[in-house]
Amino acid sequence: MHLFSATCEAIAGTGKKTEKVRILADYLRRRTLDEAAVSAVFFSGRPFPAWEETTLQVGGSLLWQVLRELTGKPDVALTAAYRRHGDLGSAAYDLLVAVAPAASTLNVIAVEARFRDIAQARGPAAKAKLTAELLARATALEAKYLIKIVTGELRIGLKESLVEEAIAKAFEEPHAAVQRADMLLGDIGETLRLAAAHRLSEARMRLFHPLGFMLASPVETAEEGFAYFQLAQVEDKYDGIRAQAHCDGKRVRLFSRTLDDITESFPELPEPLANFAEPVILDGEVLAWSGERALPFSELQKRLGRKKVSPALMRSVPVAYVVFDVLYAGGELVIDRPLRERGAILDRVFSEAHSLRTTRLRDPQGKLVFEAEIGTAEPDGALGQVIRAPRLVAESPAELDALFAAAQARGNEGLMIKDVESPYAPGRRGRSWLKLKRELATLDVVVTAVEYGHGKRAGVLSDYTFAVRNGEELVNVGKAYSGLTDAEIAELTDWFLRHTVVDQGFRREVEPTIIVEVAFNAVMRSDRHNSGYALRFPRIVRLRWDKRVGDIDTLARVKEIYQQQKTAYPSAG
Ligand code: AMP
Repeated sequence: MHLFSATCEAIAGTGKKTEKVRILADYLRRRTLDEAAVSAVFFSGRPFPAWEETTLQVGGSLLWQVLRELTGKPDVALTAAYRRHGDLGSAAYDLLVAVAPAASTLNVIAVEARFRDIAQARGPAAKAKLTAELLARATALEAKYLIKIVTGELRIGLKESLVEEAIAKAFEEPHAAVQRADMLLGDIGETLRLAAAHRLSEARMRLFHPLGFMLASPVETAEEGFAYFQLAQVEDKYDGIRAQAHCDGKRVRLFSRTLDDITESFPELPEPLANFAEPVILDGEVLAWSGERALPFSELQKRLGRKKVSPALMRSVPVAYVVFDVLYAGGELVIDRPLRERGAILDRVFSEAHSLRTTRLRDPQGKLVFEAEIGTAEPDGALGQVIRAPRLVAESPAELDALFAAAQARGNEGLMIKDVESPYAPGRRGRSWLKLKRELATLDVVVTAVEYGHGKRAGVLSDYTFAVRNGEELVNVGKAYSGLTDAEIAELTDWFLRHTVVDQGFRREVEPTIIVEVAFNAVMRSDRHNSGYALRFPRIVRLRWDKRVGDIDTLARVKEIYQQQKTAYPSAG
């Protein structure tokens, strides 16, 4: 574990990706196969391979308690160390460096075995005891990285894609072959073993670990929607929660965009999803749904953030899973097939499913626009529904505008315009999928600092400074005086108090974790913020619990909007 930790330090010490990959490849090559395989999993920031359902269930507060016992330090010392770094692992290093063993006695294989013991232990007390025993044997540097693995983030600028690259380099295999095997297996350690044996082509798909989601780029007008490709498939842009469904007839799992398992939030969906006649991975959106149409996102929101979903809630806010893509069917991964073919595969998957009904979708004038098939366990009164998303075509910007209006009239957010020739690109945002939305533009930003409000908001942190990404850096672009409900503000106040990095009294710099979607009237040049830009009249549209800081918009996007409005309204800015 000493070499693993020292390698992490070396990787953190360089900003260059090629150098990070070289250091990691060297390490992997020099370990035994077993050690290298376990380390690869740890380097991807997890205690166990992605496909396994095993979890440690050791949270921040449990670690905090263990550290308090181990160091014998009071809470204020822990808080101070935590504020210096905003990371529990780094804080632990500061606190343990004087008291932890100086020499290492742990190796990665033993650590993995202890992680499995912790995962199996029942109850927080038993888990805390085992965690404390493990940390007590670690040097301060090892403890730093053990804690980072437990919390799920190494924060050394090493994404799983770089671990894949290092494996390719270490064992002289093509990067693409390593990537594909890892995607199929959901196990970077197993992938390493295959790479080392030069048998990557033997990797077979394992269901029930999430693949990356394909993302869309915004367009502002119907004309622009036609600018990038010839033949477009048009779908409504549903305003719900993106979900990837893995189904094998018996077992069903739903994963969110952040790759978390969200099956428990929608207890009525596994039953209809078990109706497919073969193992499939589907991509779609979970929506609040009534009759033949989607309900606003605010309805769906009533169901979110709850541990248990009661039958009463399931009845008052029914949901549907609207499927628009297929990633795996017919015993193979189909992401490399063009959308045109995937559409046909999806039709087949639906037509062969057990218990099917047909529903008709009409435009506001009553014209039949699509016949969609719905698979449910019970035809009537069934709670969860699975719907094949209607596909439409537009051959001119005028037709697209008409579809946009119809989509909005159906209660949807706008349109998705997709290149029928494009493959499914997991985890990538490209121009093969375009989104045309209601607002001129909204940005997903991360809250970096908070202040107490005034008047009835005097006691709560309600003024948010927010940032976009600029490479690895975050740069502020504005400040919003909330648009959230009192309950949301109260919940966030509590969160911000616990995740303050620098406390300046009335103002607190906070961990950049809370993502909000902001609407605004214009982008201005400004030296008030370190980005050089400021949003005019920003207002928070909603919290984006489904996004992470890596998903937020970039400074380049802000500049693009700035340029566009300059062309549209030359006097602005
Ligand atoms: P945004 O969340 O604004 O970045 O827009 C992208 C999101 O639109 C995706 O992540 C999906 O959750 C959602 N979406 C809604 N309808 C569709 C659709 N028909 N195809 C693809 N994505 C969709």
